[in-house]
Amino acid sequence: MTRSTYVSTRGQAEQLGFGDALLTGLATDGGLYCPVEFPPLPDISADTDYRDAAVAVIAPYVAGTFDVPELETMVGLAYDSFRHREVCPIIDVGGGHHLLDLTQGPTLAFKDVALQLVGRMLDTELTRRGRRATILGATSGDTGSAAIEALAGLDSVDVVILHPAGRVSDVQRRQMTTVDAANVHNLAVRGTFDDCQDLVKAAFNDRDLREAVSLGAVNSINWARVMAQIVYYVTSARSVRPDGGPVTFSVPTGNFGNVLAGWYAKQMGLAVNTLIVASNRNDVLTRFFERRSLEIHQVEPSLSPSMDIQVSSNFERLLWETSGRNGAAVARLLTELRSASRADVPAEWCRLIDASFVGYRLSDDETLDEIKRAHAETGLVVEPHTAIGLGAARCYAAENNRFDDEPVITLATADAAKFPDAVESALGTRPELPEHLADLFDRKENYDEIDNDLSVVASRLRSLQTPS
Ligand SMILES: *Cc1c(COP(=O)(O)O)cnc(C)c1O
Repeated sequence: MTRSTYVSTRGQAEQLGFGDALLTGLATDGGLYCPVEFPPLPDISADTDYRDAAVAVIAPYVAGTFDVPELETMVGLAYDSFRHREVCPIIDVGGGHHLLDLTQGPTLAFKDVALQLVGRMLDTELTRRGRRATILGATSGDTGSAAIEALAGLDSVDVVILHPAGRVSDVQRRQMTTVDAANVHNLAVRGTFDDCQDLVKAAFNDRDLREAVSLGAVNSINWARVMAQIVYYVTSARSVRPDGGPVTFSVPTGNFGNVLAGWYAKQMGLAVNTLIVASNRNDVLTRFFERRSLEIHQVEPSLSPSMDIQVSSNFERLLWETSGRNGAAVARLLTELRSASRADVPAEWCRLIDASFVGYRLSDDETLDEIKRAHAETGLVVEPHTAIGLGAARCYAAENNRFDDEPVITLATADAAKFPDAVESALGTRPELPEHLADLFDRKENYDEIDNDLSVVASRLRSLQTPS
């Protein structure tokens, strides 16, 4: 297999192989690394084991860094940590509608699917290079615990996770702050998730700091995460359409990393009709689909906190592709968006985006109604993010007469037990944590609250380099 190559969306940073893109995260020009070529879709059938499918989809993307036996080992270990034998099982909810269950990993959210694998890739590559790294991440709730779970106790990394103080659920916070490992550091930032994300970006843009602490990222700006998510689009499509016919996906969306993986699957040749971008009241993407401009508003807390995002980082990757890979134009548009809080997207780019995506938003009340409806109609207990995906899929089906001839797959992104308050207010009963987390509320928490200030984060990162 030829070595895979990655290029930045802003066109100024050097091209990298997979191993360097994995360790670098954000490119030095502020862009995101993307593959130069999309490999063709491998031969996967409805019966292919998830692990085999993962190796087949991922191998060409990591060629030149990991050979197939190495990849097989990492994939095997990653998905052995899942509670369900099928890793990402699919549930038929009737009428041509399916739920793809991405919640079977250790932290009960879809981010485990990518991070369990990416953590092993990071450790393997760093160890091979004889290096240590500081993995810095911002979380709206679920990335943090999934990253910590994937990296805790490894010798090759320190993990520093920023979360917005008071804006993640108690379960989410405790899943991060109760992990007892010397290389795990939790910081609660007085601000929003976007503030946390900006701090991470600013740390990466500080070249001295970046080199001094050898910064790496496992946020969804890291290509490896998007890559690992492509797999379940392929396996679920094959599962509901063994004949290879087209499917539509409905994806609860925040940072646009998950739904973007579906678009990459389509570029590889998967028959994907529509990708439904399902949002909560933080509807910058829905408004974009309506009005062709990106307009950043204040982030408002909702019942689906992992989607309380206004600046969807991964949208940059899509803009870059639809611009004809024009890094200068993408950089201009994003600079304008930063300074003016709005930017018009050229009509030609929009046309290409419209060919694959539609957007719907649900309010908190609609989200609760959807949880009730799902329970009444199917007996399933879903949490708010998944409910938004289901609601958006229903809107789409009603508007387009779909489901009969074209199955719709909604991605279930978290287990109900992760958001017990919302679920209880909809259904009157409180979902219980699975056994391995049953004593979560008895465990000791460990985190520091800090101001929204890069210098505070920087000094924490530097202090890790001088072990006490
Ligand atoms: C992270 C997350 C999302 C949003 O996914 P993106 O890749 O950021 O779009 C949706 N639901 C849950 C439960 C999440 O944890």
